[in-house]
Order: sequence, then structure tokens, then C-alpha cells
Amino acid sequence: MLLRPGFTKCPVCDRFVYVTDDLFTVRNWAGTEDIPGCVPGIYHYECFRSAEFRIAYLSVNEHQMKENLAEQKQSQFLAINAADDEFALAYRPLVEEYTLYFHKLGREIRLNDRAQLEKFLDWALSGSQDDLARPDPARRSLMVFGPEEVRLEFTESLEVQAEYSWAGYLGILNWLKLGKANLVGRFVDLGRAQREAGIKPQSIACPADNAAGTVRKVESMEQLQLVRLYLSVETVKKIYLSHPELERLRAFLRRARSAITG
Ligand SMILES: [Zn+2]
Repeated sequence: MLLRPGFTKCPVCDRFVYVTDDLFTVRNWAGTEDIPGCVPGIYHYECFRSAEFRIAYLSVNEHQMKENLAEQKQSQFLAINAADDEFALAYRPLVEEYTLYFHKLGREIRLNDRAQLEKFLDWALSGSQDDLARPDPARRSLMVFGPEEVRLEFTESLEVQAEYSWAGYLGILNWLKLGKANLVGRFVDLGRAQREAGIKPQSIACPADNAAGTVRKVESMEQLQLVRLYLSVETVKKIYLSHPELERLRAFLRRARSAITG
């Protein structure tokens, strides 16, 4: 399902959705058309959590996610490190990326490489609630303990694009006091630059206030007199677990860790 910034709206609250939001995609799986009120689309995760069709959808989705993983396992593009009824840890060798699947919740978190996976496991399997309520050293994961449930917050990196006229782009360089220097590799707060230097983008893939991150690429499109910035930004994904679910997750991660380290 394609997210078009400034066009795609959340079916619950009717506000626009952006890649920097915590999102949940409701897909048009076989069987979902029989669920009353179930509208395929891209939802804010918190809005999806309030939807009445949630439980029914998640049950169809769980079945589908497991089938998809089983299918992909037949290829050399995916290996399953560990799996049980609730969770799976998969590895994609081409991109060297790990994914932790939460089948019952329809969620997943991406761990960019082996080092990030190991850091996550060390943190998630560290001793007490106090340890987990503290962010991990890379400040990517955190658990917030409530009486009923535990909220796992996980930071993921993603890329957004912003286009400026030549004048706008020069305005940003000027605001950064960079002259004609290359922006690649620099951390830039585009929202602040736009506000303070009075610059308007031609297009931007998320609200400007969320566009603070490291510039990955600058593309100049001479004919259109536009400059496109590719910015790596961070977004926080939330996963809600009951206390028993958290215990089962940690037991699963212990098994996954022994499977990986052999
Ligand atoms: Zn919403």
C-alpha cells in the first residue's frame, strides 16, 4: 500500500499520515472483506488500536504473516533464526538485516545488522524491569511499565525526501552558515531552517517539524531548478505487550540468541 504525503489519510481520524508517524497498514487479505468495519488503509498505530475490528483483523493477519514467512523461507532471500507461535526472528542476507516479528500484534521491528541485533538482545534480556525502563546504550529501545501492559518503544531509521528551489536550497546553506559546502553527512534540522530562514519547500515527505536528520544524498535537478535532499530521520514505533507476553518474548529471545550463537 502506497503512502502519498499530503494525500493519504488515516481511516479512523481522517488526518494525513506520514512515514515519520507510528503507522499500521491494514491490508486487503482474503477474509478481511467479511470483517465488519474493516477498511484497508494506512492507520496511525494508536488509531488502529482503537478500531473495533482490530482483534478480528489481527487474527486473519497473523495467519497471512506466517504463510508469507513460510513462503519466503523457500527462497535464499530469507532465513528463519527462530520461530514459535507468537514470534519469529528472520534474517535477510542480501541487506544483512534482521526482523523480529510479533505475529499476534501484526508488528515487526527491523534491526539493521548483527551488531544492532546483539545490542537489542543484550538489552532485552538484561536483568530487571529497571534495566528495561532505561534506554539501551544506543538509545533505540525502551520499555515503559504500566499496571496492565508494557510499552516497548523502538527507534527505527528511515529516509524522507525534501525538494527545494535553488534559492531555497541556498537559503538553507546560508542559514547553516555553510556557504556552498556539501551537506552530505551533516545533521540538519530542516523544520527549524524553514522556520527561521523563511523557506518553503517545493515538496516534503513529512511535516517539516519531523524532518531533522542526517543528509544522505543531495541531488540537483538542473532542468527543474530543484534540489532534492534525502534525509535519514528517526521514528519511534510502539508495541504494547501484556506482562505475560513480555515474559514469553524474553523466553523467545533467549532461544533466538542461543540459535544464533550456536
Ligand atoms: Zn489516525
